[in-house]
Amino acid sequence: MMSPQFTDVTILGSTGSIGQNTLDVIGRHPDRYAVYALTAHSNMQKLAEQAAQFHAKCVVVPHALAAQNFDLNWVNLSPKTKKPDVRVGPQALVETAADSSGRIVMAAIVGAAGLPAALAAAQAGKRVLLANKEALVAAGSFFMQAVCDNQAELLPIDSEHNAIFQCLPHLENKTNQSPDSPNNKGVTRIVLTASGGPFRQRSSDSLKHVTPDEACAHPNWSMGRKISVDSATMLNKGLEVIEAHWLFGMPADKIDVLIHPQSIVHSMVEYNDGSVLAQMGNPDMRTPIAYGLGFPDRIAAGVSPLNLACVGKLEFEAVDFVRYPCLELSFMALRSGQAACVALNAANEVAVESFLNHNLGYLNISHIVSEALDWQVGQGWSNPSCIEDVLTIDQLVRTFAKEVCQKTLKS
Ligand code: NAD
Ligand code: MG
Repeated sequence: MMSPQFTDVTILGSTGSIGQNTLDVIGRHPDRYAVYALTAHSNMQKLAEQAAQFHAKCVVVPHALAAQNFDLNWVNLSPKTKKPDVRVGPQALVETAADSSGRIVMAAIVGAAGLPAALAAAQAGKRVLLANKEALVAAGSFFMQAVCDNQAELLPIDSEHNAIFQCLPHLENKTNQSPDSPNNKGVTRIVLTASGGPFRQRSSDSLKHVTPDEACAHPNWSMGRKISVDSATMLNKGLEVIEAHWLFGMPADKIDVLIHPQSIVHSMVEYNDGSVLAQMGNPDMRTPIAYGLGFPDRIAAGVSPLNLACVGKLEFEAVDFVRYPCLELSFMALRSGQAACVALNAANEVAVESFLNHNLGYLNISHIVSEALDWQVGQGWSNPSCIEDVLTIDQLVRTFAKEVCQKTLKS
């Protein structure tokens, strides 16, 4: 268990929505946390500003041009602090995640691109704050094994999983409990709540021509564009079902999804005596981030107190799988196995990128994912057992999905 002394933090994906919220929380506790490393794939200006403000010791950028760009921005800022060590490329990202400095690693890169570095942090036995759900979807079994083998601490940052973690019985290590394990302590079911996204009440016909900006206009959460589209299709909830399976050792038929438009109840755990524990709060990612940073302590997050009288009512409804085919596809992938989960995620990343670039219709996202899953079955791949296997399957599916996107574009 980590002591509440001064800790240095590495943020993978610091310029993104989760990265910025993490820095916001860290900035509230200068007596407790310092930034060791920050990483970003683009927006070198923001990275330079963050590095200057938080006195980062090093930054990781994707290529030499980005490094030049970072330097230029650094000179323009002319901060009083020493320039951080600028490291370049995917290998540097992995090495920095595993550095002996950076006791806490926030894994907040979007997509399977974040897997190698998140896994490296787990293998180095760090406290890993996992926002990057795609890493667990693609590599759940050996990611959890790496956590276990290296006595890493895995704290879920996804708000639903963080809520579940908070509602589980108090155990030294709450993650990776199998329902049959003695650690399970009477947990019978996990209920993930879902807002239903921006199109919950729109007719299916009207969805054909929705724009990326419409899909990204989430009613309750402010997030990066990829996860915002995933929330609209509810493939995000599908990824979260798979994530919950690996984190908490729950089989697919003990994980339910419930629509809750207000996003106040972040998820629930049901026990065999009829009790259901829920975690509530305003929809603000600084709550789970602060929980992960401070655990087992509670630290201030800057989140406004929940005023239930103002919220007025909390509503719940069953999910309509016809409206959200991506959720059903995700359950199918989970039941099918790890290779199918890699395929689900890779095809979705390709389809969402294509949609965000205005090259694919919104309703085609689920078609691409469905075709990729069918194609994957025909390949007869066995389940991946190492990161190289995952990345190979991931690349093959991406190539296939890109071809299907092209064909869809032409038709
Ligand atoms: P974002 O798009 O806002 O930020 C992504 C970050 O990753 C940026 O810093 C970007 O530079 C970096 N990045 C992008 N591609 C990269 C690559 N190929 N290699 C290295 N770095 C790369 O995304 P976000 O909304 O902050 O989400 C980050 C992760 O957290 C996602 O996996 C998402 O599903 C998860 N998550 C986000 C939220 C949220 O509220 N935003 C909530 C729950 C879970
Ligand atoms: Mg979530």
